[in-house]
Amino acid sequence: MARFRFAPSPTGNLHIGSVRTAIFNWVWSQKVGGRLILRIEDTDVQRSKPAFEANIREGLDWLGIHFDESPWQPSGDTRYRQSERIAQGVYAPIVHQLIHRGDAYYCFETDDELAQERSEAEAAGRAYMYSRRSLAYTPQEVSQRLKDGQAHTIRFKVPHHQHVGWTDTVRGAIRFDTSLLSDPIIMKSDGQPTYNFAVVVDDYDMGITHVVRGEDHISNTAIQLLMYQALGWDVPVFAHLPIILGPDRSKLSKRHGAQSVSDYRDQGFVPEAIINYLSLLGWTPPNGREKLSQTDLVDLFDPNTIHKAGAIFDTVKLTWMNKQYLAGYSEDAFMDAVWPFIAPETQQDPYCRQKVLTIRDNLDRLDQVTTHLAVYELTTDACMERVAALPLGDTDYRVLTAAQGIMTGLNEWTNTVVATMIDTLMNTLSLGKGAVMKPLRKGLTGFESGPNLADCLALIPLAELRGRLSRVLAQGGVDAAD
Ligand code: GLU
Repeated sequence: MARFRFAPSPTGNLHIGSVRTAIFNWVWSQKVGGRLILRIEDTDVQRSKPAFEANIREGLDWLGIHFDESPWQPSGDTRYRQSERIAQGVYAPIVHQLIHRGDAYYCFETDDELAQERSEAEAAGRAYMYSRRSLAYTPQEVSQRLKDGQAHTIRFKVPHHQHVGWTDTVRGAIRFDTSLLSDPIIMKSDGQPTYNFAVVVDDYDMGITHVVRGEDHISNTAIQLLMYQALGWDVPVFAHLPIILGPDRSKLSKRHGAQSVSDYRDQGFVPEAIINYLSLLGWTPPNGREKLSQTDLVDLFDPNTIHKAGAIFDTVKLTWMNKQYLAGYSEDAFMDAVWPFIAPETQQDPYCRQKVLTIRDNLDRLDQVTTHLAVYELTTDACMERVAALPLGDTDYRVLTAAQGIMTGLNEWTNTVVATMIDTLMNTLSLGKGAVMKPLRKGLTGFESGPNLADCLALIPLAELRGRLSRVLAQGGVDAAD
């Protein structure tokens, strides 16, 4: 059975680029009826934090990306967090196996010595490669140094004068000249395995058949393949997804704005929109249709059509997609989704739901709810200040005066009543809809645009509107009748 994995490092919040990787693994695994595994790569002890792991977990749960095996749902004795696997003693025996076979060796250079090597390479304008100085020690010298407790790392010995290559599902044939590859450290001086080594052991142990990750890992893949070969292990399929670029075509980074899934959630993007949008970063469905349900995605996905070229992350398009998904929500689903974005005082308002439903079509993102609800939250004074700043002409005042006449005699105030009042005003004043609605909206709400006028006005108490109207007419020099 095909086995895919998503392997984030908990050194930051769940990044939107990582989610794209998770989605491609998820869709591809679904497509072939495979299993999806989540592995937490926390070998970088300094930078890995439980809070980041929690953020990754929450983000994946919120997006609805389901894993068959994970640190929280292990299968048998397998552990899915590298720190736990270190404690289980997974890596050390394999390092020793490599040393025993001559495929790895102890290195005793200090950080300063290595820095020196590096700066010499830089000064000479050549790419840095470890000098293999420690390979010159005899076995006796190595044993003595180890006995003396000398600090050391362990490096994998890259077999030079060969080519290493693979057929990448996305990029086709890739080949590296091994003589250009520096021997990578596989075990750090603190005894922790490094990423390149741990990932090979883990992918092998977990029976991973497909490694789908970002193209920034291509050179790591070359090193990892050499380790697979040294260990005599079968190699998985590799697919390297195109880089994600900002609108200026530079690598997506902090200066392009929001980075993590939790940022997008807090801005009121919904999971379906994020998944749909990210699935199009590096892949286009055959029929060109862009709004795809998760079933459509799995049906239409073809890994052989993943693009090589970098994919541009376009927030405007994501926002458009978000609006499409919000429009498809039932009223209840919409209210559930928007509720956390509404201020607690507003949540207490018995008309909160009705008010929110009048403005739902105006929202691209759920966090805009507060701005749009402002029309219902103005005090009379605040409303008057806004009205004073809006242009009102003679016809507008005629409309407002006539409206005042009608409203004075009313005791019922519903959207039907408002709609009837608008019709009456149009007929009696011989004006078009716009000519009646614009001054009503401006004069009674202080806004020039907003939700459906009848629905909106019906949700503001009649007494409040009458008060506003008297003041607007007085401000405009019209004799108040109320
Ligand atoms: N932990 C690596 C990362 O977050 C994953 C690399 C891989 O998929 O092999 O970039």
